[in-house]
Amino acid sequence: MSTMASTDLAIAVEDAAAHLYVWALKDIPQDLRDALRDAMGRETHRVGKRILETINTNVSVADEQGNLVCQDTGIAVFYARVGERFPLHPARIETALREGTRRATLDHPLRSNTVHTLTRVATGDNTGHRIPHIHWEFVPDWDGLDVKCVPKGSGSENMSFLKMCVPADGVKGIKQFVLESIVGAGGKPCPPGIVGVGIGGSADYAMYLAKEAIARPVGTRNSDPVVAQLEEELFQLLNETGIGPMGLGGDVTVLQCHIEHADTHMTLNPVAVNYQCWAARRATAHVSVDGTVDYDREA
Ligand code: SF4
Repeated sequence: MSTMASTDLAIAVEDAAAHLYVWALKDIPQDLRDALRDAMGRETHRVGKRILETINTNVSVADEQGNLVCQDTGIAVFYARVGERFPLHPARIETALREGTRRATLDHPLRSNTVHTLTRVATGDNTGHRIPHIHWEFVPDWDGLDVKCVPKGSGSENMSFLKMCVPADGVKGIKQFVLESIVGAGGKPCPPGIVGVGIGGSADYAMYLAKEAIARPVGTRNSDPVVAQLEEELFQLLNETGIGPMGLGGDVTVLQCHIEHADTHMTLNPVAVNYQCWAARRATAHVSVDGTVDYDREA
């Protein structure tokens, strides 16, 4: 097997990150396109149907013009799955992902959203202190790298909620909190989208899991049948709220509900909600040890 100099491999990762950020913003995955078209077919309310038609037209216009599906370029969030034998250290991968984000923003150019939280001074290139966010997973006995870019807009990110339920609240408490969160959010997160729910772990980890849940292909089910059943139940319940597209009433309030879970302390029952608007953008690349990059539309 041929290996390349780590500098060249770092450039390959940087190029992939730059491409992924722009690609994700312009060309939404097929599973999301299908879900949006299916939603248009299911919606019976006149205004809701009209909004879904407009969203689908928006996607087609973005395709035709090679333009972004939404003006909010978000915060660049990356999920990196690093093989044990991938020859680039995560510190170098992090630098490459940051540089790719910066380059994409300046070269395209893209709107930069990143500011200092207190002074509100803009960095100008969508990078900053601890931005982009990078989620790490390390894979034994593998020499590859998978990078998924999931740009997250603020309208939906602002509709994020955490509750430290107690064990006595049980599954009923989890369902109630998810329903209250989405009803309270109304039209603010640009529905219909994907409700990401994280259960278990700790306060921080539950939110981490909720974020991970929105990055899955739309409509995939958790491999744990008990969790999958709760996904299905919440999906049905959330669509009975009548909030509808953009909060103006209708049958389609959410495209899906995805749940990720972790085991937890016997006296904890954390539940986190992270909403993903209809513009559920994501794009994935696989980087091989020889620097070859393959892009994957469906991951
Ligand atoms: S919430 Fe989503 S669709 Fe609405 S403005 Fe933000 S990125 Fe765009």
